[in-house]
Amino acid sequence: ITFADLGLGPNVLKAVTEAGYTHPTPIQAEAIPHVIAGGDVTGVAQTGTGKTAAFVLPMIHRLARGRARARMPRCLILCPTRELAAQVAEQFEKYGKYLKLTMALLIGGVSFKEQEVLLQRGVDVLIATPGRLMDQFERGKLLLMGVDYLIIDEADRMLDMGFIPDIEKICSLLPPRRQTLLFSATMPPEIANLAKKFQNDPKKIEV
Ligand code: AMP
Repeated sequence: ITFADLGLGPNVLKAVTEAGYTHPTPIQAEAIPHVIAGGDVTGVAQTGTGKTAAFVLPMIHRLARGRARARMPRCLILCPTRELAAQVAEQFEKYGKYLKLTMALLIGGVSFKEQEVLLQRGVDVLIATPGRLMDQFERGKLLLMGVDYLIIDEADRMLDMGFIPDIEKICSLLPPRRQTLLFSATMPPEIANLAKKFQNDPKKIEV
């Protein structure tokens, strides 16, 4: 099986080839066609399995059509730490280089003002830690009703860091008709509950 078999468009395939990837990893092979088809995914996978590209590649494909409006991100990615958020952003840049997607990082250590300018302009992809996201939301700099895609990455680490109440709050502010992908190295009951509450008939992929 090759990346081309998974249904990705030529612009994404070109960037994947340039990155030197020849074959999808098991989580990529299972997740990518399902995400392209619009389904939810609960991925139980450690770092090193290729789980980031398993959501980044089909998300780029999904976002290729359509256009961001001011303060209304189309895809929201929640990460436990600023380091992880930065890594996810890097992958969006790498694989999305032949598409004109816009992106912003909402993490600590970056000035509010800089983030506000990007949000105001409109971004396709917003990658955020939950605390910073709630800050900007409460300041009125962000509208969440345009989010079509939600990705929760490393959910078990978010649990360890006490972010579950923030995530629940954020989920309750999003449109109910959206696609939700959740990734976690382990599946403790709190995360299973989160999936149950905020996902729609997800495909469970364990690698
Ligand atoms: P991740 O599990 O997302 O942290 O990815 C682990 C590492 O595997 C990253 O450095 C990726 O660049 C690399 N990687 C992801 N997918 C593939 C693939 N299909 N072929 C080769 N390397 C990959």
